[in-house]
Amino acid sequence: MEEKYQPQQIEQKWQKRWQEAQLFRAEDFSPKPKLYALDFFPYPSGDGLSVGHCRNYIPTDAFCRYKHMKGFNVLHPMGWDAFGLPAENEAIRKRSHPSKTVPRYIANYKRQMNMIGISYDWSREINSSSPDYYKWTQWFFLLLYKRGLAYRSTAPANWCPSCKTVLANEEVEGGACWRCGSIVEKRDLPQWFFKITEYAERLLNDLDLINWPEGIKMMQRNWIGRSEGVEFEMQIADAQGKPSGKSFRVFTTRVDTTFGMSFAVLAPEHPLVLEITTSDRRAEVEAYIARSQRETEIERLSTERVRDGVFTGAYAINPVNGQLVPIFIADYVLMGYGTGA
Ligand SMILES: [Zn+2]
Repeated sequence: MEEKYQPQQIEQKWQKRWQEAQLFRAEDFSPKPKLYALDFFPYPSGDGLSVGHCRNYIPTDAFCRYKHMKGFNVLHPMGWDAFGLPAENEAIRKRSHPSKTVPRYIANYKRQMNMIGISYDWSREINSSSPDYYKWTQWFFLLLYKRGLAYRSTAPANWCPSCKTVLANEEVEGGACWRCGSIVEKRDLPQWFFKITEYAERLLNDLDLINWPEGIKMMQRNWIGRSEGVEFEMQIADAQGKPSGKSFRVFTTRVDTTFGMSFAVLAPEHPLVLEITTSDRRAEVEAYIARSQRETEIERLSTERVRDGVFTGAYAINPVNGQLVPIFIADYVLMGYGTGA
């Protein structure tokens, strides 16, 4: 027996055997207990597989192999998230076309995944930029559209003034464009939305049924948004309680707590904010608005961050008991949800 482990010989031999025996192919209509394990699909870039990919894929693989040996019919597929900006930008950088770069990168990823011995069922491989695949995403979209569950609306988007393009939240790094480093602005642009609010109640309730860390569930709750609540009007007043004639609508899921309200919060981009801010508070409020415009919604709703806000100098009259409450702006209130207050 060899004293030293020789991966070049041993691994190739066994990987070939696994392949020939189609060991990782999930059986259709098997009487065995089932396990479906899905890793996120990578977007194939020219850099190849990173240690970060391996850190995600290897634990799933160990789990799948364990279940496989316990007699489960394991479905462990892999595919390629090869559409959209990352694939396009990579091709631009290489002065090529995604239809040329993507297949080349996929072949390399696949070679590397086999090299580290992951037990994928390659007979079920998908590629999101292949017409055979995206005809189904188009079919789903049309179905949602016809049923009024996909619609177009205006919402703030990340805009790079020098690249003159919209950026995904993930492409904004510390308020700057990942490509050119310019400070990213928020602009109101028409965008497509899915009406998940139609299912908000069910989505929220079913979070109780899954075994996820509480922090992740909290983030999901923030994303799903509020489904049931009450909207009411609040009059704006000065510090002495003199009404200004202006008002705003407030949304709350807890109307029973209105009596004990101690402050009201507007989204920084609420159209009334600059109108009602008093002159002594203006500098601080404007600085806060400028800062929040550079943050993504992901950053604004993160459960990790401290929730802060600034006082506008204006007050609102609690409609239940007539008491004055200070009006703050805070970036965890999003203009796209509820009334922005
Ligand atoms: Zn840019």
